Amino acid sequence: MSHLFHQPCSCGEAKSHVVARRMTSDDVPIALWDNGALTWGSLGHFVKNSSHPRTAEHARVALRAGRLVLGDVCLYDAKEVPTLVSAARWAAARDGLPGTMRARYRKLTEPRGLVPRWTVEERNARGEVVSRYWILPRLLDPTLAVWHERGVYAVMRRTSGSLSTLFRADRQSQAFAPTGFEFKTQRELLRALPSLVSRPVKESC
Ligand SMILES: [Zn+2]
Repeated sequence: MSHLFHQPCSCGEAKSHVVARRMTSDDVPIALWDNGALTWGSLGHFVKNSSHPRTAEHARVALRAGRLVLGDVCLYDAKEVPTLVSAARWAAARDGLPGTMRARYRKLTEPRGLVPRWTVEERNARGEVVSRYWILPRLLDPTLAVWHERGVYAVMRRTSGSLSTLFRADRQSQAFAPTGFEFKTQRELLRALPSLVSRPVKESC
């Protein structure tokens, strides 16, 4: 760690050293160094996205970010930690609050590039939408569709035939079968869909 910025720690130790250790939810040890760097274990590799501070100011912010990470890291799997680190650095450069880091984490992990294109299937006498459906982009998953009615977003999977817009007829002929995945809000639906589709969702921004 000699190439990194270093100044004597408040504890009086002159050499670079670990100031705190925690475990992830899947029991991977993580260490915070006095300059704010994070490593896997005390001898391990740098945690992806963790900072490599080169000035006293950078080290101060990195240390604040590192403490935010360690405060919550027991709730995250190791594979989620690099994103948590990004969120913590974002928060540390602002108000430095755990809630800010958590909100940023949610924003960073929100599915992107998946924009519903609803087709209205039925309206009532007042013109309000009673039911609508969304057939997912073929490239993402040619078998999935979502049906929205009575406040429920139900994910359906095509079991026979080819995709068409005759969704109700298809459903009645049982060409679509419920997957069992149902959501109360579009937000919950969009959060869950990436794990249900057959191809990874591209991040579009
Ligand atoms: Zn120290």
